[in-house]
Amino acid sequence: MILPIIAYGTPVLRKVCVEIESTYPNLSEFISNMWETMENANGVGLAAPQIGTAIRIFIVDTSPFAEDDELEDDERTYLGDFRKIFINAKITSETGEEWVFNEGCLSIPDVREDVFRKKTITIEFLDENFEKQTLNLEGLAARVVQHEYDHIEGILFTDKLSSLKKRLIKKKLENISKGKIDTDYRMRFYNPKRK
Ligand SMILES: [Zn+2]
Repeated sequence: MILPIIAYGTPVLRKVCVEIESTYPNLSEFISNMWETMENANGVGLAAPQIGTAIRIFIVDTSPFAEDDELEDDERTYLGDFRKIFINAKITSETGEEWVFNEGCLSIPDVREDVFRKKTITIEFLDENFEKQTLNLEGLAARVVQHEYDHIEGILFTDKLSSLKKRLIKKKLENISKGKIDTDYRMRFYNPKRK
């Protein structure tokens, strides 16, 4: 089922998400809803709080970058196959030079800004079978995972901008919070009167 994507300004996007057990109710349905919702919105990643639940799950599918002819062939091949679910993830190291990439977010439509992040990460997580995995990632795969990981920590990419950039996009962010935005996918905006 395609679910609405939670918009900037909604408190659930600011929660530090909690770990889950394999007995979490309707987990496989929850995960398949995440895939459908992400694909419907043409995203490369989606975190559970973006569909309204503050648990430590995110999904990543970098295959759209396989079409990017500015990337090296090796990286395109790698990104074309990189499709994973990360449960209870923990980034255990982030190293290397910071590099810049123009990021966007399904919860913050029409805002794209350059964000600096370290190049290489090590991440420990559980896969869909609750088997422990460790991955070393770099470049764009690391980038998307870092962005999604931030979501389960209650952090958004706009938090990482300079104070000048933050001032410049303030109005746009306010408009998104108020629902004054059009998207090709369904969103849910914060309504303080609704529980
Ligand atoms: Zn995002």
